[in-house]
Amino acid sequence: MIEFKDVSKIYHTRQNTITAVDKVSLKIGNGEIFGIVGYSGAGKSTLVRMINSLEPPTSGQVLIDDVDMTQLRGKALRQTRQEIGMIFQHFNLLWSRTVRQNIELPLELKGVSKVQRAQKAAELIDLVGLDGREDAYPSELSGGQKQRVGVARALANDPKILLCDEATSALDPATTEEVLELLLKINRKLNITMVVITHEMHVVRKICQNMAVMDSGRIVEQGSVLDIFRYP
Ligand code: ADP
Ligand code: ADP
Repeated sequence: MIEFKDVSKIYHTRQNTITAVDKVSLKIGNGEIFGIVGYSGAGKSTLVRMINSLEPPTSGQVLIDDVDMTQLRGKALRQTRQEIGMIFQHFNLLWSRTVRQNIELPLELKGVSKVQRAQKAAELIDLVGLDGREDAYPSELSGGQKQRVGVARALANDPKILLCDEATSALDPATTEEVLELLLKINRKLNITMVVITHEMHVVRKICQNMAVMDSGRIVEQGSVLDIFRYP
């Protein structure tokens, strides 16, 4: 379970002080797909980046299976981070590397042997449906294919959590559907917990069980997707 306990994040810039996340408490169950929606600037990215300690909270606790992420340092933090994959709106692929090399990158950084890397990459390429495109460069791929590479790379370390930050926002509607189907398949097959940031309600309706609505750093509504979208 991912648990936020009274978490705030305050940014100090030269001009002003911004409360990006304001006393948020939230629980996300293992294996669920949880949606976080809200307008630009609502604090969604900041909230989600606190799950893998890309942004340490200013106050409060972020617990993953009862381990307080804010207390982890060094090797323990690196290890826990490896259990959390992330995909992005603009894919964040390395353009000088092939599909296979992009997917192998997290394993290479961890010092996994060449043979094992190749085996894992082949498995993931099959899972995300990129067979035949192993040696292509990102510039030769469609947007949907690029995000498939992003997904495969995020899964290389066998994470138990996948963070998706506007992962379909740069894609056309048909490609969005394909990527959402892929996320559903992975969730079912690998039982990975997913936290999905989006400004598109239809994305949440399609794949999420529970959701939270953020506004000005606060959670203004939270519950099951069915309840929140039910007409009164
Ligand atoms: P969202 O993901 O909902 O668009 P963000 O979490 O990116 O929202 O941003 C929430 C608020 O925090 C915004 O006002 C944004 O400008 C501010 N913010 C985000 N990151 C930083 C940063 N590194 N430094 C200063 N302010 C930031
Ligand atoms: P995107 O829309 O592509 O997600 P963001 O608006 O979230 O991009 O910002 C990209 C980067 O800039 C993030 O690392 C974020 O933390 C940082 N950032 C966002 N708003 C601010 C701000 N007001 N001051 C400083 N950094 C910011």
